Amino acid sequence: MNTNTNLDSLARYDRQMRVKQIGQNGQTNIRQARVLLIGAGALGSYCAELLARAGVGALEIFDPDIVSLTNLQRQTLFTEADAASDTFKVEAVQKALAAINSEVAVTVHPYELSESRFQDLPAFDLAIDCTDNFQVRDLLNQLALKYNFDFIFGSCAGVSGNVMAVDPKNGPCLHCLFPNIEALKKTDCDLLGVNTALIPLVSGLQVSLALKYLTAKKEVAFNQLITIDNWRMTQQKFTVLKNPNCKACSQPTTQITEDYQNTMKVLCGTNVYSIYLDASLNLTTMKQFLTAQKITFTANPLCVQFVWQDLNLTYFKNHKLFIYDAPDKTSALTIYDTLTQRLQQTQEAKKHAQSSNSNS
Ligand SMILES: [Zn+2]
Repeated sequence: MNTNTNLDSLARYDRQMRVKQIGQNGQTNIRQARVLLIGAGALGSYCAELLARAGVGALEIFDPDIVSLTNLQRQTLFTEADAASDTFKVEAVQKALAAINSEVAVTVHPYELSESRFQDLPAFDLAIDCTDNFQVRDLLNQLALKYNFDFIFGSCAGVSGNVMAVDPKNGPCLHCLFPNIEALKKTDCDLLGVNTALIPLVSGLQVSLALKYLTAKKEVAFNQLITIDNWRMTQQKFTVLKNPNCKACSQPTTQITEDYQNTMKVLCGTNVYSIYLDASLNLTTMKQFLTAQKITFTANPLCVQFVWQDLNLTYFKNHKLFIYDAPDKTSALTIYDTLTQRLQQTQEAKKHAQSSNSNS
């Protein structure tokens, strides 16, 4: 009887089970799999949608960003309404996936990936890199080495994309592939742009590798870089060698470096600056602080908006602060410094008042 129920629930995947490389066994493996997606932007939207349609059992999705109008050109799960309502990308993805395949258990994390958040995750089968920057990619590579999991790397810029299945313990890691990764991490934002139609090609290859991994892991090559160019219309494969002197994978990973969290970043092509505040500072604390400072604000469950030293600021529930229209990074950092100093002073004064009350 259980088998019948199982077959019933697999019926919607009939056309995929007819593919002889997948079959019913492969589909059952896919149904039982949990996949971690890092990023819910362009690659993340497509990967999430394809995996949900293909019938993956569960998805864990990380992305700290909110939907903006410039995302809609390539991030297919979002709408103008999402952009207008400052929705978190992961929440918009979760809603879209529920309408596509309600059998997939989707858990979302509106945060940057970090080691502590990674440690809180349930066991998963595979991770997919859907980020747009090398800081998070490098962190994913380090986590994969320390906690021993495999991932599918993917990147897009202009008209060229790269994809590789990575088993960093046994095969080449991202540092072996990009010996200049430290320089790549410093590139603040990618102004090359991206051809809309490149995204489904790259994410299609990533999900192809993911389905192959979940169905027939032994057949996956972990040393093969696939490059694709959607202007010259070419696709090539290169063998990548493990570097015996690689800084990342030639020795055991003990300490994880997360050097991207507390840096001021500019949002690509805008004068909006973003930085994280202390994780203990929730929206309620921020509202109490603003009230005490007699600063007017508007608030909703996602964020608080206010003016600080003549600039518009938005503080989100995932602890991210946006500073709008700052003339440059130095001015944005000054705004951040004065705000955090005042917050700290207020919190210390509050603690002091509490301890004197309890002493009296
Ligand atoms: Zn390496």
